[in-house]
Amino acid sequence: MPSRLEKRCIERGLKMTEQRRVIARVLSDSSDHPDVEQLYRRVTAIDPRISIATVYRTVRLFEEADILEKHDFGDGRARYEEAPEEHHDHLIDVQSGKVIEFTDPQIEELQRMIAQRLGYKLVDHRLELYAVPLKREGGGDA
Ligand SMILES: [Zn+2]
Repeated sequence: MPSRLEKRCIERGLKMTEQRRVIARVLSDSSDHPDVEQLYRRVTAIDPRISIATVYRTVRLFEEADILEKHDFGDGRARYEEAPEEHHDHLIDVQSGKVIEFTDPQIEELQRMIAQRLGYKLVDHRLELYAVPLKREGGGDA
């Protein structure tokens, strides 16, 4: 069965080689916003013949076809996720690097209002919250 990302590639008319299919599948199965190095480790676990250059090229191809979203979460590494069907924003735990997805209707509305006040119609936005875990009262680590 083709992965969701592979189906979207086919819809966009991208030629799907076996290696591209593997990379598409790994991306579809990754929910943690991997960078190219992490992707490379995952795809070579499936097919060791895939080179890092192929991973870079394929990721760029998918990104240009708007089926992959590139993020910069402040650590200088480009990270990727399948372009989501439903919009979401990200909170980045700057201690562990963990990325949490969230949506908030009030934030969405507020951003629309700000754009409107400035004379614009909002068409897209990106929001990243950089945060550290809250310290618990009473000492001890959770
Ligand atoms: Zn995400």
